[in-house]
Amino acid sequence: MKPIALVTGATSGIGRATAIKLSEMGYRLIIAARREDRLNDLKALLSKTTEVLSITLDVRDRKAVEESLGHLPEEWAAVEVLVNNAGLAAGLEPIQDGDPDDWDRMIDTNVKGLLYVTKAIAPGMCSRKKGHIFNLGSIAGKQVYANGNVYCASKHAVNALSQGMRIDMLPYGVKVTQICPGAVETEFSLVRFHGDQHKADNVYTGYEPLTGNDIADCIASALSLPQNICINDMVVMPKSQA
Ligand code: NDP
Repeated sequence: MKPIALVTGATSGIGRATAIKLSEMGYRLIIAARREDRLNDLKALLSKTTEVLSITLDVRDRKAVEESLGHLPEEWAAVEVLVNNAGLAAGLEPIQDGDPDDWDRMIDTNVKGLLYVTKAIAPGMCSRKKGHIFNLGSIAGKQVYANGNVYCASKHAVNALSQGMRIDMLPYGVKVTQICPGAVETEFSLVRFHGDQHKADNVYTGYEPLTGNDIADCIASALSLPQNICINDMVVMPKSQA
């Protein structure tokens, strides 16, 4: 039986590329995100090569996460790889001009959503003594840049949680790898600037960003290492980004 991987935020960018990569590596896929039409498209694509369970889910909804991911059908329950990828930046303003609704979206998705999903999946990994969790942190979890305030705080939290998760699950043989990308060209900037395409395009001036496929390759490389090796933390930058 093929192993099972779960990718949150699979409808776009890094998550979509990772789901495709994992299907090519021989995993069955559980894909989750909010946009059902996009999930359906991805399911149709992945279904050509593997089995797919698609779950329309807002990771901020604790009850929905518990009900869906906490009670997966028996044949889908033994998740071996969890990619905690769903996340966003909202706004890029000095803290005094920030919008508390944006702050809620970032903290609720990037931090609390990641926790809810982990709570649904990690106990099974511990009881089976097998699993690998990837948390999408960011270079914003290692440093703070101008106007990045709350997004940086949310990714610093992911950094701390990744370390904590690793320590807590070490006795159960569960690996935890934090992936910290620099700039990756996805829908991320469009979301950050609330749909302003011009502002989003300007983000990548002066250097060539990474692609979602680049990050998927990094996840694949960490997964392909021998069982006794764990990459705890991977900072992945475009070579032309300072
Ligand atoms: P995208 O905007 O392209 O993709 C984000 C994904 O997250 C979408 O599939 C979206 O799906 C999903 N998502 C957002 N909110 C929720 C929610 N509440 N519940 C479920 N799914 C949700 O961005 P990226 O692929 O670039 O981002 C992926 C991760 O990588 C994020 O955690 C981001 O912070 C991180 N990252 C990105 C960088 C970049 O430069 N792009 C750099 C460093 C880190 P839907 O809208 O359908 O729910």
